[in-house]
Amino acid sequence: MKVNLGNYTWEEVKDLSDKDPVVLLPLGAFEQHGKHLPLKVDEFMVNNIANESVKKSHQKNINAVVAPVIWSGYSPHHMDFPGTISIKDETLTNVILDIVESLVKNKLERILILNGHGGNIAILKNVGQKLKYDKNIYIATASYWDFAMKEINEWRDSDLGGINHACEMETALMLHMQEEIVKKDKIVDNPLKRSSYTGVDLLSGGSVGVSASFKELSDHGVIGSPSLASKKKGTELYEIITDKVSDFIEDFSKWAKPLNGKNE
Ligand SMILES: [Zn+2]
Repeated sequence: MKVNLGNYTWEEVKDLSDKDPVVLLPLGAFEQHGKHLPLKVDEFMVNNIANESVKKSHQKNINAVVAPVIWSGYSPHHMDFPGTISIKDETLTNVILDIVESLVKNKLERILILNGHGGNIAILKNVGQKLKYDKNIYIATASYWDFAMKEINEWRDSDLGGINHACEMETALMLHMQEEIVKKDKIVDNPLKRSSYTGVDLLSGGSVGVSASFKELSDHGVIGSPSLASKKKGTELYEIITDKVSDFIEDFSKWAKPLNGKNE
């Protein structure tokens, strides 16, 4: 099986859809990641993770394919930093709805949207609800780190506040995926220190939501402890996360339709 939907012809997709494959739709963002990481981090990493997870699924004879990455995300909180491209929440919602409806129209129906950017999470939940209640289409949505929360907590060297943005986790994963692009001499730490009620870490959202712009929280765009990252740790985490996503793909491939609901 091919990994990327883009490498199929339309004729081949007809055969593929008969197998009811799991379709991973990676969702990223294009935004600043401090002075040491490039703008592409979110879309590049989530696409990479989706591809590797599907490769691992194929080794287990699970039918799965990766749809083209949605590279643009909701990033208004990063707009004070040059190069960031943000699309409006309505635009992002409509882009995802249109892509999912296109896939479903030709019977690619077992869709997991794999997210790689915290700012997309609320929109993604809403999209899942809209698809179900407006269009009767079931999809699954998750961010890649959701599959490995326990393992990431064991893996990390930072205290709470160290994994947030351009942080220990993202820097380690980039060191694994494309070390030469990481500007190691520009790494600075900025673990978030604020009320735990508002959440300081990607792995521990607080109980109270407060929207803030990144410039208010960080001069250079980092929130977290990237100095604790290493290539070795990145390789280790990449294997953990792609194993976990591929475990989910296997499980998801067996869900009854309507997905995870009552049997047909
Ligand atoms: Zn990021």
